[in-house]
Amino acid sequence: MRFARAIAIAVVIAAGAAGIARADGPPAPALTSMRTWASPTGTRVVFDFSVPVTPIAPDTGSTRQLTISVPHPGLVRGATVPPGFAVRDSALDSLRAVIEPTGARLLLYMQPGTRFHVFSLPAAEGKPFRVVVDVTLASAAAAEERRLASLATNKKRDRVRLVTIDAGHGGEDTGARGPGNVYEKNVTLGIARALADELNKLPGVRAMLTRDDDFFIPLRERYRIAEKVRADLFISIHCNSSKRRGSGSGTEVYFLSLKGASDQADADLADIENAADLVGGVPVQAEDDVVGVLYSMKRNTALQRSQLLAETLLDHVAEDRRISSRGIKQAGFAVLKSVEFPSVLVETAFINNPREVLLLKDPTFQKGMAKQLATGVRTYFERSGAPLAPDSSRATASGAGQ
Ligand SMILES: [Zn+2]
Repeated sequence: MRFARAIAIAVVIAAGAAGIARADGPPAPALTSMRTWASPTGTRVVFDFSVPVTPIAPDTGSTRQLTISVPHPGLVRGATVPPGFAVRDSALDSLRAVIEPTGARLLLYMQPGTRFHVFSLPAAEGKPFRVVVDVTLASAAAAEERRLASLATNKKRDRVRLVTIDAGHGGEDTGARGPGNVYEKNVTLGIARALADELNKLPGVRAMLTRDDDFFIPLRERYRIAEKVRADLFISIHCNSSKRRGSGSGTEVYFLSLKGASDQADADLADIENAADLVGGVPVQAEDDVVGVLYSMKRNTALQRSQLLAETLLDHVAEDRRISSRGIKQAGFAVLKSVEFPSVLVETAFINNPREVLLLKDPTFQKGMAKQLATGVRTYFERSGAPLAPDSSRATASGAGQ
């Protein structure tokens, strides 16, 4: 299954986060990288700086040419940063960075019908200070909303269960990194796509992905996508990583805890996964957590079913003897906070473990794990009292996870 989407070209100009070394004294402040990430609804532009800067530009608006002034005398261009480059996707034509004695001017040439949003992100989680511009193509955003709405309509019409699969991380947010530069965001996408394929083979089940390419989605937006399509289940795919190099092994499946994590290690893991918004880049927001305010009955039902889903998925994944089972656990993962459906987060294996990373990056292993998870989903529907049938009736179609 492929999403209709904008041309997906990610132009990545890699550069070190550090400033440019001078013969004497500290390194000069520098623009160290500029890159773009395409998503179905637009393109994100990211400028890295070795020091905090104060960009001057309108926050939001619509224009064909946006100029962002960055006053900072002595600012230099990083060794690998070009004067500009063409992007030529549906949202953005090209970028330029002009360095002057007083600072920098960042120029964005936009396609017609776009809107922009400029914000800054402080250095966090190994990422430098960033100036970010989200360029949204209004027609693509509207088309994406229509696509999600039609998934919900078709689900109801065809009386099928819909499973939303969330490939963890993406775009700016690489997730954990294993030996040989294996990135969590790529492994999760591989397993998520394979799981969608396996679920789509089951009669009465349909799968959709929160992302089917390499771009970032904020944590809340991930379950909101599932809410928009009226999903019956939400499964977020991740890879674990331990602080100590090479240690840690096995699969664990999490569901939401409202009262803190099962233990300190689980709390630490939730903190790492919840930091995705800092790494991937979400502008500061003043939204309250939905949990704690809404629908305690609905929430309890969703939690009970989430626990059953976690147990069932782990039972089946544990059939692969190459990966040990670490059990089901609870922690405060932000991505699991919808009350509308059971949701779990699968930490498939440890990406920093030299043995498990070889499995994680292997498409055959990814497919095998997807098959076991899909069998787990089928068993879950049976255990939850609404088994799948080739001719699923309306009653069974709405029986689980509603
Ligand atoms: Zn992760």
